Amino acid sequence: MSAVNETLIRDVVADVLGRLGGAPAAAKSAPAPAPKADCGCNGKSHAATPGARGKFGVFADANEACAAAQESFLQLQKAGVAARVKIVEIVKAMAESNAEVWGKLELDETKIGRLDHKVEKLKIIKLVPGVEWLRPDARSGDHGITLEEYTPFGVVGAVTPSTHSIPTLSGNIVNICAAGNAVVFNPHPSAARCAAVAVRAYNEAIFRETGIENIATIIEKPSMESFAAMCKHEAVRILLVTGGPGVVKAAMQTGKRAICAGPGNPPVYVDDTACMKRAAKAIIQGASYDNNLLCIGEKEVFALENIADKLMSQMEQNGAVRLTNAQLDALTKAAFTITPGQGGGCGHASVNKDFIGKDPIVLAKAAGISIPSGTQLLFAETGADHPFVVEEQMMPFLPIIRVKSLDEGVTRSLEAEHGYKHTSIIHSHDLEALTQMGRALDTTLFIKNGPCMAGLGLGGEGYLSFSIATPTGEGVSNPRTFTRVRRCVMVDNLKIY
Ligand code: NAD
Repeated sequence: MSAVNETLIRDVVADVLGRLGGAPAAAKSAPAPAPKADCGCNGKSHAATPGARGKFGVFADANEACAAAQESFLQLQKAGVAARVKIVEIVKAMAESNAEVWGKLELDETKIGRLDHKVEKLKIIKLVPGVEWLRPDARSGDHGITLEEYTPFGVVGAVTPSTHSIPTLSGNIVNICAAGNAVVFNPHPSAARCAAVAVRAYNEAIFRETGIENIATIIEKPSMESFAAMCKHEAVRILLVTGGPGVVKAAMQTGKRAICAGPGNPPVYVDDTACMKRAAKAIIQGASYDNNLLCIGEKEVFALENIADKLMSQMEQNGAVRLTNAQLDALTKAAFTITPGQGGGCGHASVNKDFIGKDPIVLAKAAGISIPSGTQLLFAETGADHPFVVEEQMMPFLPIIRVKSLDEGVTRSLEAEHGYKHTSIIHSHDLEALTQMGRALDTTLFIKNGPCMAGLGLGGEGYLSFSIATPTGEGVSNPRTFTRVRRCVMVDNLKIY
């Protein structure tokens, strides 16, 4: 059966189900919350009428997905802020109520990460900020009043990663639609099916509650061509890409403004003023989260030499398993392909994708050992130029490197971070060390005395986003990231004092 026919049949089925007052299976499994606020429909019933083409946001063609999102943006403009509030409520409630089902769906499709954390990443979408972040700024004085408002762009073109497909997509919808925009997604091809299920379910519920169709559209079979078509489409005003160096470079070359949530390789520095038990526990918690798929996750540890043994011993006492040199060599051979350098120069290591986000037991097998069930993390002592330090490896294995001084720890951390300006972490109570590392690393997130996720509001203060705009500088994305600031000036009048 050709792709065109499949699409046609799906559309017809969706249309017929809609006419019968039903909804596609995926949407049915995701009940929307009862309406709590005025959605801006002026009493019009949205009951069971399906979207114009019955697609509920899922499109085969990139141009159609962009055009539908543009129509939806216009509908959202008319419906007003109450409809944005409703959309945010729906997405947050559905991410939570579908967390188990969608987390499993994503794991089954991508085969990377851990189910418990896939589920948790959906349950915490409620921590993503919404419409309340768009309070206008005002000035008043002898010459009247001036208001600066955070207003939408229109359609945002978004790219999502394989490492957290539905969580990134859900958080992006909250931020982008809270700001009054619509969004079209070109998801990662290896996590596109689960993304489409969530988009379809969100749209079905949003249509039912607000009458707005296709507020978040998705290209069903994403490719480099669909990415190019989305970036080129005239309705797409800005881009949000979440992924590695390739997509960041591609987005920046489009000529459109791109908000880039790029790669990281977060270093950790531990000194002799830190509490070793607390540091060890935090490092294990962060580096093992979703099998180290987080871009903010601890990827290498530089430990001051006088506490390195104590730190490793605490890591073992808290359940991490230490590899011998021979076991490390075996794992390295399996986890990387080393291309020898020319003329005796340094070779280049590339990560073997079969090991990304896999369980510790898979890594242990490659290392030639058996580990207790429930082991969260493996670690070993390495040199600073080891592939596990240099590459963004995204595996539940952590290299530990001894350093002689704070200066060396900071220099090595800076080298390992590659200037991504993403995330760095320190365990120390020495104010000099905390300040020196913070200034030198110059990262978007700098976490002190806690696990990486404290930087996103999980155990630390702050809000959540799965898109941290690093090279382009917008930081942890929020509704204001997707707005244009517009000024409205009333001369001489309306000041009431
Ligand atoms: P990836 O770079 O392989 O893919 C990300 C997305 O970009 C996918 O949708 C992919 O199809 C697309 N893509 C890749 N190369 C492209 C190109 N040249 N042109 C157009 N599209 C392209 O990344 P991944 O393995 O899915 O995710 C992991 C990477 O993402 C890591 O580097 C991680 O640090 C980064 N990441 C960053 C953040 C952040 O907030 N900064 C969040 C999550 C992941």
